[in-house]
Amino acid sequence: MESKIERLIKDFHQAIVKVENSAQLDEVRITYLGKNAELNQVVKEMRNLDENQKRTIGQLVNETRSLMTEKINELATKFNQEKLNAQLAREKLNVTLPGKNHPFGSWHPLNLVINEIATIFEGLGFQMVNGSEVDTDLFNFQKLNLPEGHPAREMQDTFYLDEQTVLRTHSTNMTAHLLTQLSEQGGDYLAAISYGNVYRRDDDDATHSHQFMQIDGFVVGKDISFANLKWILTYLCQRLFNVDVKVRFRPSYFPFTQPSVEADIACFKCHGQGCELCKQSGWIEVLGAGLIHDEVFQANGLDPQGLSGLAFGIGVERIAMLKFGITNIRDFYENNLQFLNQFKFYGN
Ligand SMILES: [Zn+2]
Repeated sequence: MESKIERLIKDFHQAIVKVENSAQLDEVRITYLGKNAELNQVVKEMRNLDENQKRTIGQLVNETRSLMTEKINELATKFNQEKLNAQLAREKLNVTLPGKNHPFGSWHPLNLVINEIATIFEGLGFQMVNGSEVDTDLFNFQKLNLPEGHPAREMQDTFYLDEQTVLRTHSTNMTAHLLTQLSEQGGDYLAAISYGNVYRRDDDDATHSHQFMQIDGFVVGKDISFANLKWILTYLCQRLFNVDVKVRFRPSYFPFTQPSVEADIACFKCHGQGCELCKQSGWIEVLGAGLIHDEVFQANGLDPQGLSGLAFGIGVERIAMLKFGITNIRDFYENNLQFLNQFKFYGN
């Protein structure tokens, strides 16, 4: 019987060294420690032995069983650890890797200027409208005192889509639309701002582009005077540049206003001493304005005897170039992120 147990131990050792995974280990466990294991057969046969032999063999069986159990448990622990290690390696999180970048956008400098100017005029009770960039010759020119053959049309070299359709040369086209509406509705007061892209064929150098943005505004009502115009434009310049800014008005010419002026501000870089920015003049041209021409009222069906109005036009690029110190107008249109990212923290 001892020799049988010795052979079992020998077999067990031979089997256990070949085990490579948990499934094989289970087979070994069932063979040597399961219900039908040979060791159980030995226990059954012990009945025929005397007390001394029973004790000896019993002890031997117990020792064999714990030896096998120990060995099997040892391997089971090893396999479990290996499985856990593999899982940990698979699910490893490397906290030293750089995080995912979620870039956030910024307002375009031209939109920053439009928003700022819109906010100022909103506070003064103006409506904000955005108009069509494709318009008729009628609204872009004729209703604004620019009849066919008018020399001032030469100043705005135009993209014609067909004989009567143009890419608007100024956002003043919306003034014509709104004044016509006002006349149709029989109204006698309107204050509005329009903004958007305008197109001209000729202007192409570092400070001009064939496409640029304008803001156009007007107030129409009873007793609108030049004093109102001066106050509004001075207030606008103070809000846009500096509360102490000096504003001057020079006579100028625009077909849709009479009298017409250009508004300059004292150069904020040299304070009037003369520098490169103000071309040594001490003044910087900011916008054009005037009192709405009688011809414009008439062309839009309004009576110039009962109504008066002021109007002004602002070049958005020009204001943005002045405010942000930009020297090339093309910077606005090239979608260069290095340029655009500089405005990330402005105005938010
Ligand atoms: Zn200057």
